[in-house]
Amino acid sequence: MLEVYPLGYKNNGFLFSIAWGFTGVIILLLSLVCFKHTIKPLIIFFLLLSSFAGYFMDSYNTVIDDSMIDNILSTDIAESLDLLSLKLILYVTFLGVLPSYLVYKTKLSFGTRWQESIAKIKLFTFTLLSILAAVFIFSDFYSSFFREHKPLRYYANPSYYIFSTGKYIGGLFKQNALVFKTIGKDAYIAEEDNDRELIIFVVGETARADRFSLNGYKRETNPLLKKETLVSFTNFWSCGTSTAISVPCMFSKYTASKYEKSKALATENVLDILKRAGVNVLWLDNNSNSKGVADRVSYQSFRDAEINPICDTECRDVGMLVNLQAYIDEHKQGDILIVLHQMGQHGPAYYKRYPAEFEKFTPVCKTNQLEDCSKEELNNAYDNAILYTDYFLSKVIAFLKKNDAFEAAMFYVSDHGESLGENGLYLHGLPNFIAPDTQRHVPAVMWLGKNFDDMDIKSLLKKQNRKYSHDNVFHTLLGFMEVDTSVYDEKMDILQN
Ligand SMILES: [Zn+2]
Repeated sequence: MLEVYPLGYKNNGFLFSIAWGFTGVIILLLSLVCFKHTIKPLIIFFLLLSSFAGYFMDSYNTVIDDSMIDNILSTDIAESLDLLSLKLILYVTFLGVLPSYLVYKTKLSFGTRWQESIAKIKLFTFTLLSILAAVFIFSDFYSSFFREHKPLRYYANPSYYIFSTGKYIGGLFKQNALVFKTIGKDAYIAEEDNDRELIIFVVGETARADRFSLNGYKRETNPLLKKETLVSFTNFWSCGTSTAISVPCMFSKYTASKYEKSKALATENVLDILKRAGVNVLWLDNNSNSKGVADRVSYQSFRDAEINPICDTECRDVGMLVNLQAYIDEHKQGDILIVLHQMGQHGPAYYKRYPAEFEKFTPVCKTNQLEDCSKEELNNAYDNAILYTDYFLSKVIAFLKKNDAFEAAMFYVSDHGESLGENGLYLHGLPNFIAPDTQRHVPAVMWLGKNFDDMDIKSLLKKQNRKYSHDNVFHTLLGFMEVDTSVYDEKMDILQN
């Protein structure tokens, strides 16, 4: 608020009225649900929850909208532990636990049901009138506040996260009400296509396009990939700013502008179509999960040391490749599509995302209190994690080279970018229309094996600066597999357009 309406003679009255009015809104909301037996538990519940929300909004400049609720609920315990910090404990203690204790200890007296009803009506009327008075007195300010500074409302704690939770739950009901839709029933692979395709599609995590030296970053962050003949698309954009949005979105036929989670999850995605056309589809996951995309194809999580052979402080992305040859050898017929979902640069604990030998840029930010680290330390930690992704992708290419009897190719694209302290923003997840480019401009890399003569790398190189997005992934995967279906749009296929 103070950034948009700085303290001073002109704004002070309005700022006071906002504090007054907002307090009134919270009283109105609570008075609807607070009664003799619910008042203490509810207030304690909201104090605790709001102290968490306050911490995340203050520390990372993020807002708790419905997709953030989705992120929080789909985050596993390991990722939550990454967010634990002293500052969080202080926030929750002083803004959550201590006030809750006071609420708990406060003695309340209640009148008869009749007296209580009268009191409630009085409270409600007085609060409503005082809100209206505040708005009326500063009506000029309020019209600009509601019309031109819409995002400010997203920072209202607790009302906005309550609203977002309602929106999220509404979405779940909508999703349940939708009938699951089969698409691309006519998908087939031409009989004369005798070559066997082996495509590895790597879904990256939290990588920024401008941090790849392939795209011109001044630091050498792609020392291994630069030795390969490949195409780095420099103008590639994500569907959303979070894993929960971008991952289902890129596999769905819906474009970013038409994408809704409920719709996408109630419709078959490109993996379903490929599977029906006879492609062997396998999803290996070293991230949280496939966000519903791989529900109907073979899936294995690599977060556990019992399955992933390469684990130190955490299980590494390269572990997904160790036993992959066996899968290829077992599947003697048909094309193969393997999706590798990376841990990548998942924040805020970037320093945990690579083994010690990749700590090339130092000193490194070794805390999840990102705002406590210098810009240099934060960038170093993040760039070291990019170095590790460079190594991982080079291993994927090496694996494909060993399988050169196939028409082999790798396609890598990150799910979204990241804010690293620019304008006080950290992490990701802002709604698209206020998200900075760093959260949506993602790296995308394509490597083609020697049997891909018909799609020569030179023609792809000519397109490397064209504007592409996650919208293209659905059609490009169909194109790679040479699957014909009515839902395939050649113009959206990066290989063909
Ligand atoms: Zn992500």
